[in-house]
Amino acid sequence: MDAGVSALVAPQRKNSPVEALASGDRSRETLRGALLARGTEQEELFSLARAARDAVWPAREVETRSVIELSNVCQQSCNYCSMAKETKLKRYVIKHELLMERVEFLHALGRRVLVLQSGENDSDNFVGYVAKCVTEIKRRFPDLELILSLGNLSHAQYVRLREAGAERYNLKFETSSPSLYEMWKPGDSLAQRLACLRDLIEVGFKTGTGNITGMPGQSLDDVLDDLILLGRLDLTMMSCTVFIPGEMCGYRDEPMGDVDIALNQMALMRILYPTRLMPTTSCLERGKKGGQLAGLMAGANTVTIHDGTPEEFKKLFPIYSTDRCSPDYARCEAIVRDARLSFGKAPLI
Ligand code: SAM
Repeated sequence: MDAGVSALVAPQRKNSPVEALASGDRSRETLRGALLARGTEQEELFSLARAARDAVWPAREVETRSVIELSNVCQQSCNYCSMAKETKLKRYVIKHELLMERVEFLHALGRRVLVLQSGENDSDNFVGYVAKCVTEIKRRFPDLELILSLGNLSHAQYVRLREAGAERYNLKFETSSPSLYEMWKPGDSLAQRLACLRDLIEVGFKTGTGNITGMPGQSLDDVLDDLILLGRLDLTMMSCTVFIPGEMCGYRDEPMGDVDIALNQMALMRILYPTRLMPTTSCLERGKKGGQLAGLMAGANTVTIHDGTPEEFKKLFPIYSTDRCSPDYARCEAIVRDARLSFGKAPLI
């Protein structure tokens, strides 16, 4: 029987999306199939992602970060965020002395990567204050790598923060769809967000970005576009959170995002962009028990320990919920161990 006839009699079995990925297929159809993987197929997808991670990071260490939520003052009206300016919330900025005490405490614990996060506040007053804090932190703890996550600022303000000594900046594009962006973040635009990302990269920050999966109005094709946009930017960090309808946000009555799609997206991010840092976030756990461990199994290599923000401010930084899952050291250690990884002592990049 010649090949043509045999193909008619026994049609070739179509590769599963994971087999296709393993053989280098990066087509949209394959990525779409992988986003929907479940059961054994999902396990195979995660296994492929872990192999991609471990080839780049053979020591199997995760970057261990601490976070201090510096201020909840915010000028934005994001419908998904419980800290939007419309939310009735007591607003705070952590004072310099208390901040330095917390940094000293974290440094003494051995932490060498610190995230300073806040609502978006582009007043020169606030940015100047952060720059002063950064300078002081780097003077006293030069081996502490600083990641800022302060939202959209001007080019000059990014320069100021970079010159103060911060090495990295996280700014999520949230969605690659201009219309969804404007629906989710009224008064802001995707073009503006992407311009900020370009500024950050140009100013010399090691830059991270990413999306939220499972948001109102978002289709699987939008998520695929997010994955592709991640590949067009010169990044060292990338992230994906799943939408959690916090009780104080504009989208509080919307359904929660699908954690499995978010995990599959993370696995694809690892396979497509193996050299970048990628966190497993607490909202995966909030979305599904075991979700944060599953993030490590899907190729993540960063965990954030939530023991930096002073207790009195924790409830006032309710990104997705007042009852937020904020993992402490013991929890992070347990999931890292269960994933057969270990805490890195120094920054991974
Ligand atoms: N204000 C800064 C900014 O806009 O980049 C940093 C703080 S912001 C609260 C940090 C991130 O939290 C956002 O970029 C968004 O992706 C995520 N986030 C906020 N609300 C969320 C929710 N309900 N579910 C999942 N992720 C959420």
